[in-house]
Amino acid sequence: MNDAKEKVVFMIDLDGTMWADTPNEEAATKTLTAEVHQNAVEWVNERYDEGHYICFFTARWDKLREVTEQKLENMKVNYHQLLMGKPRIRHTEYAGYHYIDNCAIIRANRFEGAWSDLVKKQIEIHTFENE
Ligand SMILES: [Mg+2]
Repeated sequence: MNDAKEKVVFMIDLDGTMWADTPNEEAATKTLTAEVHQNAVEWVNERYDEGHYICFFTARWDKLREVTEQKLENMKVNYHQLLMGKPRIRHTEYAGYHYIDNCAIIRANRFEGAWSDLVKKQIEIHTFENE
């Protein structure tokens, strides 16, 4: 990462981000065989080793915690926390997530299928009018 000394809390999705998208309805039987995205484990473990906090934040149901933890263990990915129950977007009227918080640094990235380095770019974002 660019700012080597800056540590952050990474909130990282699982299905479609760490491994092939597996809907809740099929996750009990398909999680353990879901293909892990190339470089996902290496990327997360590097951030973990740098001292960042790794929180997996998933819309999986609570009843899928055991198989989800087993999958993460099988992958040998290091993390600090697994948060289940993120509001679901699939099959809803909602287009996505919009995170608002009073902490000093908020960043968000849409995972587009490749775990590569994070770089700084000038981009257009939604922000409050008074900022
Ligand atoms: Mg997902």
